[in-house]
Amino acid sequence: MDADILIIGSGAGGGTLARALAPWGLSILVLERGDYLPREKENWDAQTLFNTDRYHTSEQWFDGQDRPFTPVTGYQVGGNTKFYGAAILRRRTGDFSVRRHKDGETVPWPLGYDDFAPYYQQAETWYFAHGEAGIDPTEPPRDAYPYPPLFQEARMQSIRDALSRQGLHPFPLPMAIHRDDGHPGSSPCIRCNTCDGFPCLLHAKGDAETCGMTPALAYPNVRLVTRTRAIRLVSSEEGHITAVEAEGPDGARRFQARTYVLAAGAVNSAALLLRSASDHYPRGLANSSGQVGRNYMCHLNSACIAIDPAHDNPTVFQKTLAINDFYEHSGLPDFPFPLGHIQNLGKVTPDILLAQRPYFPKALCTWVSRHSVDWWLTTEDLPHPDNRVTLKADQSIQLSYRSNNETAHYRLRQHWKSILHQIGFPWVFFQRMGINAVAHQVGTLRFGDDPAQSVFNRDCRSHELDNLYVADASFMPSISAVNPSLTIMANALRVAEILRHHLAVKT
Ligand SMILES: Cc1cc2nc3c(=O)[nH]c(=O)nc-3n(C[C@H](O)[C@H](O)[C@H](O)COP(=O)(O)OP(=O)(O)OC[C@H]3O[C@@H](n4cnc5c(N)ncnc54)[C@H](O)[C@@H]3O)c2cc1C
Repeated sequence: MDADILIIGSGAGGGTLARALAPWGLSILVLERGDYLPREKENWDAQTLFNTDRYHTSEQWFDGQDRPFTPVTGYQVGGNTKFYGAAILRRRTGDFSVRRHKDGETVPWPLGYDDFAPYYQQAETWYFAHGEAGIDPTEPPRDAYPYPPLFQEARMQSIRDALSRQGLHPFPLPMAIHRDDGHPGSSPCIRCNTCDGFPCLLHAKGDAETCGMTPALAYPNVRLVTRTRAIRLVSSEEGHITAVEAEGPDGARRFQARTYVLAAGAVNSAALLLRSASDHYPRGLANSSGQVGRNYMCHLNSACIAIDPAHDNPTVFQKTLAINDFYEHSGLPDFPFPLGHIQNLGKVTPDILLAQRPYFPKALCTWVSRHSVDWWLTTEDLPHPDNRVTLKADQSIQLSYRSNNETAHYRLRQHWKSILHQIGFPWVFFQRMGINAVAHQVGTLRFGDDPAQSVFNRDCRSHELDNLYVADASFMPSISAVNPSLTIMANALRVAEILRHHLAVKT
């Protein structure tokens, strides 16, 4: 045996799980296909980030029509949290039950908000959540945030005031940022403009490396093997995982543990189970139900640039405001459905614009950036069995996805645009994200009580294999309209407790 517990992946789920398990003395082995992200000047360089594959994978996936695309995702210690915008929100109470949308209904979770609340609290503490309770009208019951909200720079405060005058309830976006809290191995955040989408050169972002793997590795019973990709899980006919076959810098390797946890991200964890098909499990592991890979969700996302030519926006750290006034229902007389969630983007700089629109004159990029306030709009997409991960004949990943709930997203954009017009932004531009935008990937291995409709049970343990668990984004039966990471972290903490109980019972 190489370990009591082998975790595949060191991102939001895997990194948090490793930290939670570390103090209990069980031997933990984390396999991570990537390496540590180098700390270098390029971390904060927009051209490097958006126009090279220095940090993002260059592998190709295929869409439902067999067209190749490069997913915007990266493989490194800390997973995609190394690049995330660090907005960490709890799901709303109603997100755990059935929510009615224009295009259908969501799937209820086997557990409710109250089951997750203590784990949310713990995850917020570990990840330095800065926020303010009591303002967001859809906020679930909660205690105070562990850290105060990030302050608004003057221009953002004026926008917040203007939105409030429109009758809205803008609130400080909860952010996982280490400001001045003396966390070992990191320096406090300097509120720069290279945070959302960039790795933090200072290690001041609350990501799964700094807040998950690094504290976990302070324990002698935790081991991380980097640059080693799990290729296949080996199983016995008795419903047991017996080994992981992996590929590292020195070639093929095999690892054995008592218990295995998938934390490779929603797409890769599903692909791994499908790649682990055997004579006994010809459809892939844990897949008697045929549910592995299905119900992929990723949000309907739009970036929004709003321009007020009469006012400069000198804000540096912009990602501080959010609006949930249209989350539960639109408030529009002709559309009695939810629209979604709105939050700031990190400040769009001339460099970011130029990197993404190289044909724009530099002077135009500078002018736009000087006058714009930038937003990120998300609408919930609904689980659909045909939105799914499958494997092509050569084992590469095929991601079939047809978005639904489009009208709700369109209405969110239109409504937001009219509000922005009213508060002084005559020009409002949107950009919809395409299939390569897999940042918010969830679903694919959902948990539930019915083995015919889910892959894992409410403990996130496989219905079919007694020593296989999941701790990444794939367990979610519905996505909600808020960012997924905090729920992944909270669930990993919950799974840690289940594992401790399960392994203690066995010893
Ligand atoms: C640009 C960007 C901005 C984002 N902003 C936000 C935000 O503001 N708020 C928010 O909540 N979320 C945000 N997200 C999403 C967030 O990063 C993800 O939801 C979260 O990281 C998913 O956690 P996970 O554990 O499922 O997967 P990941 O964090 O992706 O971790 C998976 C890990 O598994 C490793 N791995 C994959 N396959 C294998 C294998 N076969 N063998 C070994 N290791 C493997 C990967 O290298 C990776 O380290 C953002 C994402 C991106 C890309």
